Amino acid sequence: MASSSTSSPFKDQLKTRSLRRRRAICPHRECAVGVGMTLRDRRKIHPVPTTSLYAAPAELAVCEEVWTCDLCLRGIVELVGYEVTEQTSLTTADAPVEKWRRQVWPEPAPRELSPDAPEMVRVLYAEASKAENAHGFRLAGVGYRAVVEEICKDQGATAYNLHAKITELASRGLPQDVVDAMHEARVVGNDSVHHNVEYAANEIADLAEIIAEAVEILYVEPANRKRMAEARAMRSAAAKAL
Ligand SMILES: [Zn+2]
Repeated sequence: MASSSTSSPFKDQLKTRSLRRRRAICPHRECAVGVGMTLRDRRKIHPVPTTSLYAAPAELAVCEEVWTCDLCLRGIVELVGYEVTEQTSLTTADAPVEKWRRQVWPEPAPRELSPDAPEMVRVLYAEASKAENAHGFRLAGVGYRAVVEEICKDQGATAYNLHAKITELASRGLPQDVVDAMHEARVVGNDSVHHNVEYAANEIADLAEIIAEAVEILYVEPANRKRMAEARAMRSAAAKAL
């Protein structure tokens, strides 16, 4: 039977071609949910294939991968660096060791805090997140520490250094998990700026997430309670006016 004349070859390829599957958060803003993703295409972009004896041996192979989100069908382009050992260069059957993976398109969006958080806290957090996206992990560590410092300032801490500021807020009844999160961010920031320690991507990501949790407890939850109380008061007033 002849194939339908209405289907495009690209659509057919999308339907059938699947090299690998994974679960991830779709990076497209309009979608942004945890979904299945399908690897549609992978090509080696470095080193270029050559038969020349003068080509320097590559220690790293770089591949470009094209994934699609199963839900919105939008594409995601990533670059992946693989370690090339003597074994992996001899046979392609070996599973290569993935060294790094970078999202190229869509451009990774910076992390965002709720509009309930103070403006300066949100701005510093977004900038630290941009450094994180660009793999500037020391700068990201320093940036996230600055976010904690700004939160302390906004909460009215007056002590001289950050350790004392956090302790000051703790003595005023700030929940212990928030205090712990702030101290953790302080240590990572200090290591990044004073001790030349570079934290790994996942450690910086954890830090960003604990700060977001602290912001949730300090700003978002109280704002939600206030909004609910206001809504209750309005409903009550409307009922009385009847
Ligand atoms: Zn999607």
